[in-house]
Amino acid sequence: MPDRYAILHELGLTPVWRLRARSAEVAPERTDSAPAEAAPSGALAPPDRAARIAALAWTDFAKDVSACTECALCRTRQRAVPGVGDPCAEWLFVGEAPGAEEDAKGEPFVGQAGRLLDNMLAALAMKRGENVYIANVLKCRPPNNRTPTPLESESCRPYLDRQIELIEPKLIVALGKSAATTLLNVDASIASLRGRLHRYRGVPLIVTYHPAYLLRNLPDKAKAWEDLCFARATMRALQSGGNLQGGTVVPK
Ligand code: URA
Repeated sequence: MPDRYAILHELGLTPVWRLRARSAEVAPERTDSAPAEAAPSGALAPPDRAARIAALAWTDFAKDVSACTECALCRTRQRAVPGVGDPCAEWLFVGEAPGAEEDAKGEPFVGQAGRLLDNMLAALAMKRGENVYIANVLKCRPPNNRTPTPLESESCRPYLDRQIELIEPKLIVALGKSAATTLLNVDASIASLRGRLHRYRGVPLIVTYHPAYLLRNLPDKAKAWEDLCFARATMRALQSGGNLQGGTVVPK
């Protein structure tokens, strides 16, 4: 196991950073407005699909995702990628969609970006599977890793929503613009979304860069580290019974 300095070094974060004081605010709650793209006729989720997914137990969850044929991605996937980790985790990390390695293995973030995510977790003294759950907005790989369409995201959303209900995380970390803007239902840059406390379905949510983006934009690793420190401070306040008031976590 590499030591903390080695991990921070790998993240490009040495010398060690200090978190500057920041103000936090809550973004407008998601309104359940119509998805940006209309579903083709016949592809709209019938209400009984949503109700069925909303009632899934953990024991049936992965099987159900693997059998899903709601959108065309089921025809090109090798394996569905439901998610991995502690089913009672306080931390939920949400990415965009599986890539090639995830599609082959059926587990999220197992490629190069996944290794960076593991190092980011390790820098916070955390580990995949221990009080951490990792999932994606989409459970199936879009061909050539293209950005998910709004229709694909909306078709898959009941699964992520059910995961959130089952896990009951204290904090969600949205990895990258696609996950963040889909969950928050906004069209905004990562730069404008980071450093603030948002909520998704009532759960506090923090936005940071996607590990795959960080692999191509090394200087932004320092900003990602700031985001993780903000997330850690928020989690500590939530763990000690703090509440969200006026957009900030108020310690008990
Ligand atoms: N990128 C993601 O958003 N999710 C994965 O699982 C892998 C890469």
